[in-house]
Amino acid sequence: MSGPQHVDVAVVGAGFAGMYMVLQARELNLDVQCVEAASGVGGTWYWNRYPGARCDIESMEYSYGFDEQLQQEWEWSERYATQPEILRYAEHVADRYDLRRHIRFDTRVKAATFDDERGRWLVETDSGEDLDAQFLVMATGCLSVPIDPAIPGLQDFAGETVRTASWPQEGVDVSGKRVGVIGTGSSAIQAVPILAELADALIVFQRTPAFTVPAHNRALDPAEVAAIKDDYGRFRADNREMPSAFGSRLPRRDEGALDVEPAERLAEYEARWERGGLPFIGSFTDLLIDETANETAADFVRDKIRSIVADPDVAERLMPSQVIGCKRLCVDTGYYETFNKPNVELVDLAATPIETVAPAGVRTTAGHHDLDVLVLATGFDAMTGALTRIDIRGRGDRTLAEVWTEGPRTYLGLGVAGFPNLFIITGPGSPSVLTNMLVSIEHHVDWISDCLAHMRSQGHRRIEADVEAQDGWVDFVNAVAGLTLFPTCGSWYLGANVPGKTRVFMPLPGFPTYRETADAVAAEGYKGFTVG
Ligand code: FAD
Ligand code: NAP
Repeated sequence: MSGPQHVDVAVVGAGFAGMYMVLQARELNLDVQCVEAASGVGGTWYWNRYPGARCDIESMEYSYGFDEQLQQEWEWSERYATQPEILRYAEHVADRYDLRRHIRFDTRVKAATFDDERGRWLVETDSGEDLDAQFLVMATGCLSVPIDPAIPGLQDFAGETVRTASWPQEGVDVSGKRVGVIGTGSSAIQAVPILAELADALIVFQRTPAFTVPAHNRALDPAEVAAIKDDYGRFRADNREMPSAFGSRLPRRDEGALDVEPAERLAEYEARWERGGLPFIGSFTDLLIDETANETAADFVRDKIRSIVADPDVAERLMPSQVIGCKRLCVDTGYYETFNKPNVELVDLAATPIETVAPAGVRTTAGHHDLDVLVLATGFDAMTGALTRIDIRGRGDRTLAEVWTEGPRTYLGLGVAGFPNLFIITGPGSPSVLTNMLVSIEHHVDWISDCLAHMRSQGHRRIEADVEAQDGWVDFVNAVAGLTLFPTCGSWYLGANVPGKTRVFMPLPGFPTYRETADAVAAEGYKGFTVG
């Protein structure tokens, strides 16, 4: 057998991050090879094919902005694109830029070891076709490792068990069946209204109610599209100035919720509820900072739940008690309304926890629910899961999983001390999942590409984050998170959904400041990194 394939850049993952990284590396005339576990491109949008899966960032924003021709040519059909449409877009991009010849599909990276003497990474795959690369770019995704709930008997279920995060490509026929859904996060909230239409009976097993606001999805108005396309560059630039890198058309007000009269506050919430989507949480400047301010928005949504859900007991059980926006806000189409349907039942696991999954269904402390199909919408080992599942060994043979035992430590979310020539796209310590991910992905890929170009032009072969810079960065991220209400609930941002995972708030709020900082680091010769 021949030895590993020698390349300049190895990229792991062919979602939007990996695809753009491949393109940029090729533009630099670097020899690049990408390895992807799936059989196709698209990452999230390849795997998450559950009914109702769609974007909750508007489609005119959730798309690449690096090529004016691409963004002019592509036509989105709806305000929020469906999973099939986003997947078609990813496939179109792969074809348009001839990316597939650089991607090895159906291949999983198991390990990557840095050879300190040679300054190169040995990347081992499950196919045995390994890579020997100068640079290793992890485009493995923040929400790409689904986790199954630790419920006794789950394996014994005699019906069909499916995960939203790896929904069968051939679909699941639920017509005439009794379907159970475990979980009430964004995935479940999108799937539940559709499953309720298709199934004979739907039982939603809810442990913690989530806040959700209506999407008010609709076909895109050609005039609206034309207005954006008229100056798409300006539109992208305006969005980059937003705290979460989206929603510039509905700017955040410059005042706090408690600075205005209650009637004005209500009117603002009502207007945003009617408009739909995530900008609801940007109604006022202090919603994610001040608990009293936050409570006004949370109360508004609770009132909406009361007004939509006919059965007051069910409405009460659907009402979250945590801070709104602490767990990621969900965006739905008819979620609360679904609980008015006669074939839908809400099981409140906080009151009656699941005891076991039996061959015929789910048993809670209150009784047994017969099921034909069990849907697990139970979330992901977010931000670190895909990285720590690979045996990544840096200098001194230390693994990334070991170094991150007490939580992830990065410099700018891009580099890790002790792991030279390794880059992470949208890694922990960067705004990442708190933003329109496409914007963060493009920023990181551009930053990494500029860095590679700089190194090549200067004859440098090695770059590594300094421990001091990394320590300072981690302290900064923690300090910023500490100013917000984010650490007040058990969210996946904190790793609280994974048993045994250290609780650390992983993303950094505030895209514009982050971008300026990362770009200044580059402009100052990669300050905080040792390059040589
Ligand atoms: P992914 O798309 O996750 O791609 C990573 C790829 O790496 C995957 O294909 C995976 O198979 C591969 N991979 C991982 N480990 C290995 C390995 N060891 N070997 C080989 N391959 C590997 N973000 C938004 O901004 N707006 C939204 O509306 C939105 N909606 C979402 C809806 C769902 C259901 C989910 C799960 C996430 C959503 N996100 C959204 C976040 C979404 O993950 C990002 O927007 C974006 O698609 C991430 O792209 P990526 O390339 O970084 O990662
Ligand atoms: P999630 O938000 O982590 O939700 C998982 C759900 O499963 C939670 O309700 C959780 O309850 C529940 N759960 C987990 N283990 C359980 C157990 N043992 N018993 C009972 N319930 C259990 O995961 P997700 O819905 O897949 O969403 C993850 C993220 O992906 C989102 O926050 C978002 O960033 C992205 N996403 C976006 C969209 C979109 O609208 N575009 C759609 C899907 C996903 P607890 O809260 O009690 O832990």
